[in-house]
Amino acid sequence: MKVTADHDRCQGHAQCFANAPGLYLLDDDGYIAMDSQEVTPGDEDAARRGAAACPERAISVID
Ligand code: SF4
Repeated sequence: MKVTADHDRCQGHAQCFANAPGLYLLDDDGYIAMDSQEVTPGDEDAARRGAAACPERAISVID
C-alpha cells in the first residue's frame, strides 16, 4: 500500500497527522510534508483513517 498527498488541496487541518503521526509528517506550518510514501505493514488501518479524516480529501490511498 502507498499513500500520496495533493499539496494543492492540503489546508493544514492536521487530521491526517492526528490519526497516523508516524506516517503523515507535517511541515512547520502544519501542512503535509510528504509527497508519496509506502505504508509499513501493520500501519494500513492508521493510514486509511488518516486519509479518511482529511476534510480536503488531499490524501489518496493506493492498494
Ligand atoms: S488532514 Fe488533509 S488538509 Fe489537513 S494536513 Fe492532512 S492532508 Fe493537509
